[in-house]
Amino acid sequence: MLLLQEPGEFARACDEARGQQQRVGLVPTMGALHEGHLSLMREARQRSDFLAATIFVNPTQFGPNEDLSRYPRDLDGDLEKCRSVGVDLVFAPDVAAMYPKGEQTRVTTGTLGNGLCGAARPGHFTGVCTVVSKLFNLSGPCVAVFGKKDYQQLRIIDRMVTDLFAPIEIVEHPIVREADGLAMSSRNRYLSQEERARALSIARGLNQARSLWEVGERSASSLTGACKASIEEAGLQLDYVELVDAETLQPLGSDEATAAAASVNKALLAAAAFAGKTRLIDNLVLGEDPPIKHV
Ligand code: AMP
Repeated sequence: MLLLQEPGEFARACDEARGQQQRVGLVPTMGALHEGHLSLMREARQRSDFLAATIFVNPTQFGPNEDLSRYPRDLDGDLEKCRSVGVDLVFAPDVAAMYPKGEQTRVTTGTLGNGLCGAARPGHFTGVCTVVSKLFNLSGPCVAVFGKKDYQQLRIIDRMVTDLFAPIEIVEHPIVREADGLAMSSRNRYLSQEERARALSIARGLNQARSLWEVGERSASSLTGACKASIEEAGLQLDYVELVDAETLQPLGSDEATAAAASVNKALLAAAAFAGKTRLIDNLVLGEDPPIKHV
């Protein structure tokens, strides 16, 4: 497995692979890898001949009061995990390589980035789009796998690829969960045992709303209310719970919009909450995703 830190070298390695008629696969991550990331890599492995994973804690997607400085880092452990799933190349640049002196260009998003985490974390998706564009420009044509754990990010990147004619095939991967239903996240390692137990209320709340949806409930306030109640009863600090159109991410709050959701029979229920200082997100696509098991 190759470990590269220079953008030019990463681009060259991908070019060379394509030159040998190999299909390039790409899995961008911020490291502190867990089974969710590895599952994305296994999927990308199946779809490609030359698999590149990137590990880069991207500073531009963190707000001033967020956890950039304490974001978990474990390059040696990550490399071992990448090896175990057959990654061919890890690109792990430093910040100065990705944002060299004088850099100033940003890629921004439109309405897809306004709500949910975009509202809670101003500038976050500009940072995401900027770094992912840089990675796509370096990798060149490839199949890139992203997780539905970051559902809004996935929709935004999908749109960005379309809008910018990027020669990238985007593949979505389902949320990978712990045995008890907690969505895997690099941030879970911040949680105390007690916070972790309380964090399960997010998946439980999503499941409760899903049960209501299955018996025909289409009122956004009833569906989000059930999820909020679970999270708040567990003592987490709620950031948001919203029911939105699964494609446009526009809120399905009004009666009119709720009726539209009833006719499409699919909607995204997305939640974010703090367990102590740790911000957790999770979601279910109602009308599509199976129930979360064992929660
Ligand atoms: P991150 O390292 O958090 O930036 O995540 C890198 C990629 O892994 C993104 O496409 C995430 O959506 C995906 N990912 C993170 N956690 C999970 C999970 N539990 N299930 C599926 N995909 C995940």
